[in-house]
Amino acid sequence: MEDRGFDLEGRLDARSRNDLKRSLAPVDRVAERGYFAAPSGGDLPVLGADEALVFGSNNYLGFTDDQRVQDAARQAAATVGTGAGASRLVTGDTLVHQDLERVLAETKRTDRALAFSSGYAANVGTIAAMEPDVVFSDELNHASIIDGCRLSNAETVIYDHCDSASLREKLTARAERDGADEESWLIVTDSVFSMDGTVAPLRAICDAAEAFGAWLMVDEAHATGLYADGGGVVQAEGLEDRIQIQMGTLSKALASQGGYVAGSDALIEYLVNDARPFVFSTGLTPPAAAAASEALHLARHSDARERLWENVAHLRDGLESMGFEVLGDSQILPVLVGDRRDALALAAGIRDRDVVAPAIRPPTVPEGTCRIRVTPMATHDQADIIACLEAFRTVGEEVGLL
Ligand code: PMP
Repeated sequence: MEDRGFDLEGRLDARSRNDLKRSLAPVDRVAERGYFAAPSGGDLPVLGADEALVFGSNNYLGFTDDQRVQDAARQAAATVGTGAGASRLVTGDTLVHQDLERVLAETKRTDRALAFSSGYAANVGTIAAMEPDVVFSDELNHASIIDGCRLSNAETVIYDHCDSASLREKLTARAERDGADEESWLIVTDSVFSMDGTVAPLRAICDAAEAFGAWLMVDEAHATGLYADGGGVVQAEGLEDRIQIQMGTLSKALASQGGYVAGSDALIEYLVNDARPFVFSTGLTPPAAAAASEALHLARHSDARERLWENVAHLRDGLESMGFEVLGDSQILPVLVGDRRDALALAAGIRDRDVVAPAIRPPTVPEGTCRIRVTPMATHDQADIIACLEAFRTVGEEVGLL
């Protein structure tokens, strides 16, 4: 990207935009390249007193407390500055941003990646910029996807959660109604769903997208840095070549703030020019970009992922063997309670025993399916997991759930 540069003068005319859009093909693999690694060391104090065990954070790998990540942010602040100072297209583009995008593209095995100031902005900006005629969206997709659909003015068709047969039915019905030849269709799904812990059947969704000539966009907010070599569920399933738009956030496993889109050169070139939150919003802060780069490096090259998955297995087994129903199939462990008052009592009771995990209630989830969203971290040790399990057992019995 070094020789490309961002330039307002270089904005594309309507015809080139359409050419770019038409030329969006499945992404090409890029050769393995070096990664950005900020110098480690430093003596920042560890954040957060150990007053309670947090089992409700998206800081899955515990990197917000990692001195190397903090040091990368501090170093970027000291050398590049605390803020980008302007939109990337004006004067806000720095080497720190370019390094982050390079390592994201390398991890996601795409031509390029583009950083946004949040995952929300990445979703809204990308879906709106693609100007699809129809979006097919999983019923439990994140709010930022829903808002992107609204802003795009596309007809939005909702399919049943993680149900590729339902998706196919909707695609078929829409094709029979109006035909699809002249239209652009976009299918969009989270890969890991934040409140249910479910994982989308991406291979079957790819098959459906290809059968109907639709673009496919996958939100890897809860998978980036955790699955496969850090590249998410898309990478774990080996589907990089079949998914046109991979999106994610820097604010969960990557311990920072911001979002990204990864894909082909044509896609990123298009978004640089047409994704309004990218064009018209100040670039990501350099400390946020540097922290995310370092966290991504650590996610790929340390044992943190392994420790997280061990903790996930231990906690899931423990909760299930006590008799709790744990939903999903990911690092997110939603403990199904049902009734709203029981869920609140369980959350309050474990909080009294110094374990923090939130009760999730309507409107976030349907009535009668209240749950405690439990998310272990790589930095929890065996004693922490046992303390969490003991709190759930004691309070579960008190509340009459066990
Ligand atoms: N997509 C999903 C699936 C999310 O869970 C979130 C954050 N809750 C976002 C997008 C938005 O990311 P960010 O917090 O970086 O704006």
